Amino acid sequence: MPLRHIPERTCVACRSLRPKREMVRVVRTTAGAVVVDPTGKQSGRGAYLCRLPDCWRTALRRKALERALKTELSDADGAALERYQRSALGPQSALVTDPQVDEHPVG
Ligand SMILES: [Zn+2]
Repeated sequence: MPLRHIPERTCVACRSLRPKREMVRVVRTTAGAVVVDPTGKQSGRGAYLCRLPDCWRTALRRKALERALKTELSDADGAALERYQRSALGPQSALVTDPQVDEHPVG
């Protein structure tokens, strides 16, 4: 069994080639929405990003995702991707402090 064949994908932000399973797939659904595809199996045009906050920021701000997916990212979709990045890929990277995080005490 050939163990050496590891599918690799290029990050649309930093252009690094990485094993597919280390990346996050973002897909443009047939409905035109742009969503994270954790299973990697959703149909539609896909793009891959590293699990690095920097790559997500680049992809969103420099419209790398939009170019890769040949679509326009709605504000809602962009916000959802940012939320995914923060929640699933860990909070902000240790390199950056984010002044947006202000905690409101509950109760
Ligand atoms: Zn990357």
